Amino acid sequence: MKTLKIAIQKSGRLNEKSVELLKNCGLSFENYKSSLISPVSNFPLEILFLRDDDIPEYVQDGIADLGIVGENVIQETEVKVSYLQRLGFGKCSLKIAVPNNDDIQNLAGLNGKSIATTYPVILGKFLKENGITSDIRTISGSVEISPGLGLADAICDLVSTGGTLKSNGLKPFADVMSSEAVLIGRKGSETEDLVLELIQRIQSVLRAKETKYVVLNVHRDNLAAITALLPGVKSPSVVPLAEENWVAVHTVIPERDFWDRISQLKQAGAQGIVVMPIEKIIL
Ligand code: ATP
Ligand code: MG
Repeated sequence: MKTLKIAIQKSGRLNEKSVELLKNCGLSFENYKSSLISPVSNFPLEILFLRDDDIPEYVQDGIADLGIVGENVIQETEVKVSYLQRLGFGKCSLKIAVPNNDDIQNLAGLNGKSIATTYPVILGKFLKENGITSDIRTISGSVEISPGLGLADAICDLVSTGGTLKSNGLKPFADVMSSEAVLIGRKGSETEDLVLELIQRIQSVLRAKETKYVVLNVHRDNLAAITALLPGVKSPSVVPLAEENWVAVHTVIPERDFWDRISQLKQAGAQGIVVMPIEKIIL
């Protein structure tokens, strides 16, 4: 049987979450920092540990079948790969930032200014779409110090909390793109059985992350009100308790409106609410 290869970041911001996702998919492999390639013992898959910049091309050229990488890197390298799945981690935005004392009002204020970035392709497209002509200075790192050094008037860099900008006396000015880690595949890989199996496993882990398993007790008189609040995967399971007229209701609740739901359930008569994480949801 064919062995698939998946490329993930060797070290850096996406490494830990990528490894965790693959482990949560039930894949068993060693994660030695020194190795470049690690075989999975219970699935026909090998894991390649690479610099994130190299991942899109490895996948485009078929050296790896799959890859986990930030959308920002894919857009910058302009490769032809298939987007298979957004992964919900590594979230950040590519932003233009200017020094705090700059009184720039709108994008047109960037005309004729110099902007330092490690993302010249994405920034170039963004400026062109907005009819702005700036001088893009491509540098390979530590972009945030360039205005202070007099190298550029503005920067275009990845931001998650904004802390790095702040500590360098910069303020975010315009959003260029938002990004998260995605699973990409070599063109055509999306129809292959092994790839589909892996995507299904990943989706079941992501789905479980977005949901909590909830068990609560309720008097039968309030059961209808409680079930009305719980769409669940299907309708909730209702289990009789030893105490007459009381039942336990088992269901799943989406993480995003979790606290709202819990307070509604309490108001409707739910007691002894137990909330548990879910490992996988297979539909
Ligand atoms: P490598 O050594 O693999 O080339 P790198 O230094 O280029 O690593 P990292 O800083 O580890 O890259 O970031 C990897 C990815 O993490 C980015 O391309 C981006 O998609 C995502 N990311 C999330 N938050 C941030 C952030 N605050 N700054 C930079 N990247 C971020
Ligand atoms: Mg890199």
